[in-house]
Amino acid sequence: MKNRIYIKDIKEHLGKETTIAGFVDVRRDHGKLIFIDLRDMSGKVQMVALPNHKEAHTLAAAVRSEWVIAVTGKVNKRPEKMINKDEPNGDIEMEITRIEVINKADTPPLDVRSDGKEIGEETRLKYRYLDLRRPRMQENLTLRHRFIKELRDFLDAEGFLEIETPILTKSTPEGARDFIVPSRLDKGNFYALPQSPQQYKQLLMIAGFEKYFQIARCFRDEDTRGDRQPEFTQLDLEMAHVERDYIIEFIERVLIHLVQKVTPEKKIQEIPFPRLSYKEAMEKYKSDKPDLRKDKNDPNLLAFCWVVDFPFFEKMDDGKWTFTHNPFSSPKTEHRPWLLKGERIPDILTTQYDVTLNGFEVGGGSIRGNNPETIEAVFRVMGYTTEDIKKNFGHMLEAYRYGAPEHGGIAWGLDRIIAILRNEPNIREVIAFAKTGEGRDLMMDSPFPARPEQLKELEIKVGK
Ligand code: ASP
Repeated sequence: MKNRIYIKDIKEHLGKETTIAGFVDVRRDHGKLIFIDLRDMSGKVQMVALPNHKEAHTLAAAVRSEWVIAVTGKVNKRPEKMINKDEPNGDIEMEITRIEVINKADTPPLDVRSDGKEIGEETRLKYRYLDLRRPRMQENLTLRHRFIKELRDFLDAEGFLEIETPILTKSTPEGARDFIVPSRLDKGNFYALPQSPQQYKQLLMIAGFEKYFQIARCFRDEDTRGDRQPEFTQLDLEMAHVERDYIIEFIERVLIHLVQKVTPEKKIQEIPFPRLSYKEAMEKYKSDKPDLRKDKNDPNLLAFCWVVDFPFFEKMDDGKWTFTHNPFSSPKTEHRPWLLKGERIPDILTTQYDVTLNGFEVGGGSIRGNNPETIEAVFRVMGYTTEDIKKNFGHMLEAYRYGAPEHGGIAWGLDRIIAILRNEPNIREVIAFAKTGEGRDLMMDSPFPARPEQLKELEIKVGK
């Protein structure tokens, strides 16, 4: 659209003729006067068609909600008694001189102007491109953008580099099931989608990139549980030559900055964030992600908390040991001899730190075992044979032989943090194209059967 201006700037054109474009929000036909509210990504404005502009008036009578139109008209001040103080453009009105219909619209299968809470989620996800038109979703994604942008700017100013890591990779032992992707060129073998960039970020520390971060997509093939998504976004971060408390203090500084910058209406209950040991948290709150808010009715209260000193290992149902958080973590220094000797397994504490917010775990990280002995010892506790360890993590053990700094990092669940900042009940509300709890994309209709020739090429047979 040539010379089109955004509705947010319309006031600067008072008394002049200008052109705007967007969706018809509502139309109120009073016969002679026809009012149309036009909506673009920047705002809304009321327009009026008068009978003296005959062609425009006829078209104004014909347009319907969600049609896309471009409108040329004169920007006027509204008469005093018509001013609406609650609307950003409530004191102005555009007198329509010309309407161009860009596209008509079928009646949408769902109301795009309400907050959407009354609409079934299946319908919202199936027509997500319409659902996203509603102001609540526009605001959610706008805030998401602003949060990530501030985060990038902050880390950049602190000397961090954003480095991309592969999506086609190898299984990582994050504790969930991997999504696997068949290789055509290397038949019978599979890539795995990353559950997190964990190994890559550690290898970047060995590579000498001392401050790394990434807004990283992670994939975990988990059973339907709560509001998880098979793919989600993390802030992934790692730093070299740092100790646990340095990372905790740094991350706390980043979080405070982001809240103040992006959601200044929010109040952080306690700074510095309180710290609890896992034992204290369980004894006092019966949860390792306690909700410490003093007033749970206050939508603008944020109660962050650090939880530290987790046990490194826990027993599974089959009696075998597994890690509670991350197999690449380092135990607390004083417990390292136990790990190396395979003694007092339940007593070994890890350097893991989790950050919680209003009762949700929103991030977690640790100082890493920065030598082959520590990494090997962890997998030995878990019952891996030397051969298993070599086969799966040989590249890590080898890398740590070539000089590795002390390092550690964290990952945040970005979707979760943004959902909390927007007081949204689940992360689907802050993900543009979310999937159902069963992992389906209802809009694209995915997952979907592979075409026979695709399967043939991959030499894959699908059982029925
Ligand atoms: N990679 C870990 C996770 O995704 C976080 C970390 O230790 O940095 O939970």
